Amino acid sequence: MIHSALGSIQPCQPCLLCQVCAAAIAQPICGGCHRDLPWCRDTRWVQDLAVQIAFDYAWPMDRLIHLYKYQDRLDLMAVLQFGLTQLQRPDVDALLAVPLSDARLRERGFNQSHELAKRLGQAWQIPVWTGITRLDGLRQKGLSRSERLQNVANVFSLEGKSNRSLPTRVALIDDVLTTGSTLLSLTQFLKQHGVQQVEAMVIASRQIK
Ligand SMILES: [Zn+2]
Repeated sequence: MIHSALGSIQPCQPCLLCQVCAAAIAQPICGGCHRDLPWCRDTRWVQDLAVQIAFDYAWPMDRLIHLYKYQDRLDLMAVLQFGLTQLQRPDVDALLAVPLSDARLRERGFNQSHELAKRLGQAWQIPVWTGITRLDGLRQKGLSRSERLQNVANVFSLEGKSNRSLPTRVALIDDVLTTGSTLLSLTQFLKQHGVQQVEAMVIASRQIK
């Protein structure tokens, strides 16, 4: 329990990571955990796509992302969202989570990036766009970078028949950056359909600096 300036007693906010009382601060983690996270807070270029990155893919973010995606630890979304909101707010018309295929969606039960995009959209007052679907059946594992790019270029499709409602400027939201091939292919796809500006934001990067 902590005492507020007015003298009333309020329950403390336990830190989502260490459970220690984090006091009445407007973030889900305590100062110590905040300091210890593998912050990146940098923009890297994947070819001509600017990707803002919140963290390096290192302990404990690697574990947190895994728990969030595969163990239904949706409570950890607050930490991931907090990391992304430490990046520069994108100057775009819409946020777009990298879509999962229907098969992957059934397997996981939810698209973790879309859930994050919705929270970010609320925080930043930017609409979340869901006009892209991803076709089933194309696995990327074991393919070369160029094979992956070619593969993914054929994977996305627009929902509906008209392109008229496409946003002009889009920020892609994804969890982990590895080769960036999916982000690049989705960017290529969007530009082919008239989106003029695409940038990306990811929670963590596996790339070597
Ligand atoms: Zn903590």
